[in-house]
Amino acid sequence: MQASASPLVRIPPVARELTGSWFRRMAAPYGLPAQDLLRGVLSGTHRVQVTGTPGSGLELFLNTPARTALAHSTGLPLPRLTRLLPALAAPHGRLADDENPRAAWYMPGEAWVGTCPACTGRAWRPGQPVLVYPGTAGHVCRRHRRWLLAHPGRPASIPLETLPEVLTAHRHHSALARARPDAADVVALAAAVVWSWQVQGWRSETVWQNRVRRLAAVTGSMPAAVMPHALVSYPETIAVARLLGAPRWQQRLRETAAAQGAGAAMELLLGEISRRAGRPWLADWLIAYTRTRPRTAAQTDPLDRWLHRLTTADRLESNGLWTVHRAAVRPTEYSDRIGFLTDRRPRSICEEAGAAFLTGGWEPVPSPRPGPAPCP
Ligand SMILES: [Zn+2]
Repeated sequence: MQASASPLVRIPPVARELTGSWFRRMAAPYGLPAQDLLRGVLSGTHRVQVTGTPGSGLELFLNTPARTALAHSTGLPLPRLTRLLPALAAPHGRLADDENPRAAWYMPGEAWVGTCPACTGRAWRPGQPVLVYPGTAGHVCRRHRRWLLAHPGRPASIPLETLPEVLTAHRHHSALARARPDAADVVALAAAVVWSWQVQGWRSETVWQNRVRRLAAVTGSMPAAVMPHALVSYPETIAVARLLGAPRWQQRLRETAAAQGAGAAMELLLGEISRRAGRPWLADWLIAYTRTRPRTAAQTDPLDRWLHRLTTADRLESNGLWTVHRAAVRPTEYSDRIGFLTDRRPRSICEEAGAAFLTGGWEPVPSPRPGPAPCP
């Protein structure tokens, strides 16, 4: 009955929206601060405790009594709300789950982006963005050719008209995400593989240099500031992820290793990666690099470790195939990546990247994702 009585249902949440984003949007038409709306929703016979403010945390976390009160106030069934709002689905570790309604504004526990305004339509109001968790592959709107960025106050995205290979990679990424539930882990391992190449600082490499120039042009930032962005290595990352995740290729690599040894399997794998990454010289270069690097480096090299696990596992579904050695993980923080990729002063580069909203948003990380730390 509350459904018909409540005005709040006029603004339903968008799929995968931040609960905090939805609250801000609900409060805006009444000219109410989101905090006042929250206190109104939770008011009742019990003592209400609210930690933080919408200014101190973008995301709103609720304990069980607060979630029940929210469902009552909005007239929307709790199962529907938890389906749409990821942060509402699980209790937050820092919120006590007693009989008192408790709420807290914290920073989101995982990456978030602003939705594509053209797709979300009327849900966007001036100054009231719709912020969502992109999940495995929700960081690109292929329809409107946009890479979505994390701006808390207005639409922000990278136009992809001049970066068609990113759109193609995203089509493949989406297919991978539909085909396998562990797609985020596969992509995270592929990202570590590609990262291991990026940090080698290939001087004669032209594909990334060319892409960096195009990205710098559309964002208006200097090349050094866009270099650490996930977009730059995205096509190669997805190409490697598709190859490593393909059962037919896994089988072929196992057979080659069994018949001709691990070295032959690695040569076969590198040859195929070269072809798919559009760098004919890559296999020869990496084989030469493998011979000259310290022996200990092989123990953390993500591709070496993956192939070793694949070809020595007893069962087809080997556990831990997609885990990456800590030393080889692609850093999730923009500022950490800058230090590896350029000699320029990290702080000034980070400031420039931050001004273009390049330092947040989607990153290829395993599931469940740790929250990206802010750029200093
Ligand atoms: Zn769109």
